[in-house]
Amino acid sequence: MSFVKQLLLSAMIMFFAMNSYALRINVIDRDNLNTEQSQKLDQAITALNQVLNSVEFKNRVLTFSYQGKQEFVQNNGMSNQQVYDFLMGGAEEYPVQSEANQLADMRLTIYNPPRYRSQSSTLAFTSVDDPYLHIYKKYYQSATVAELSNTLVHEWTHKMGFDHDYDETPQRPYSVPYGVGDIIEELVSKYLGQK
Ligand SMILES: [Zn+2]
Repeated sequence: MSFVKQLLLSAMIMFFAMNSYALRINVIDRDNLNTEQSQKLDQAITALNQVLNSVEFKNRVLTFSYQGKQEFVQNNGMSNQQVYDFLMGGAEEYPVQSEANQLADMRLTIYNPPRYRSQSSTLAFTSVDDPYLHIYKKYYQSATVAELSNTLVHEWTHKMGFDHDYDETPQRPYSVPYGVGDIIEELVSKYLGQK
């Protein structure tokens, strides 16, 4: 290995230094994904397993603030540290309460609505009654791996019991699904850029 490569590798290891937590993405079902769609998902999973366990991610969650206060909006009564610990525990609440097994359980299905409003900001949805993360097909096809990673984590935090305003309110980006999702997108972009 060349000196430059070695240097880059150590820089990467330092940046993405693993902490004592380890949360892994656990895709239980890829309902209707074709090979190409599945490959894109694999790229997102690889990146997410690195980024979710990075010190940088932890620091970004711990220092997240809204209107000068270090907290998320609609945080279910949790401090930033508690939000972080809870997410890293991986105990989904929906569709049924699961154990804190340090696995982010995901069941994925790609949804092709009969009349997709391309100007709509809706990219995906989840419901408390069914286990799937439904991702709109047109969005899935056009999304970058970093954007897809954001959406996967956003929808998964709904399974973890976090919610946000339905409408585009000023506080909505500071909710757990949007706030954590945006951090993920930024860090995955950075991670992929360094590879
Ligand atoms: Zn949402």
